[in-house]
Amino acid sequence: MTEIRVGLGTDVHAFDAESPLALACLDWPGEIGLSGHSDGDVAVHAVIDALLSAAGLGDIGSQFGTSRPEWAGAAGSAMLQEAARMVRENGWEIGNAVVQIIGVRPKLSPRRAEAEAAMSAALGAPVSVTATTTDGLGFTGRGEGLAATATALLTRP
Ligand code: MG
Repeated sequence: MTEIRVGLGTDVHAFDAESPLALACLDWPGEIGLSGHSDGDVAVHAVIDALLSAAGLGDIGSQFGTSRPEWAGAAGSAMLQEAARMVRENGWEIGNAVVQIIGVRPKLSPRRAEAEAAMSAALGAPVSVTATTTDGLGFTGRGEGLAATATALLTRP
């Protein structure tokens, strides 16, 4: 009997003109960055919360939060690798993850394949990356920051 679990993750970070943008395990030269305890990669953080919730391992705040200063400024890819390691250490296999980035910029489509390859490499499982806007509404529509929502599927024999 194989256990199957889904997880859900959401993250939000405000734009910070002083920071370089790290998003979906990619650097985005020329784009406005995001504030945060780590590199502010909303796509990675949402996927990590999806993974941890599916595995019953809490959330990103409890595993990578301010109580673990060694993760301050951490690269999203390193955090995603660590979350994947924790999940697998608990006997789970990672089926896939999906993340949707919500905001006006940067435009994802020209770099979607690159983002999916980078996130999939860090996770060691397929990651689909999509993007949407909010018709000018809310903080994402006003261009004040980015949000991301993610799901993950885990199985355990
Ligand atoms: Mg975050």
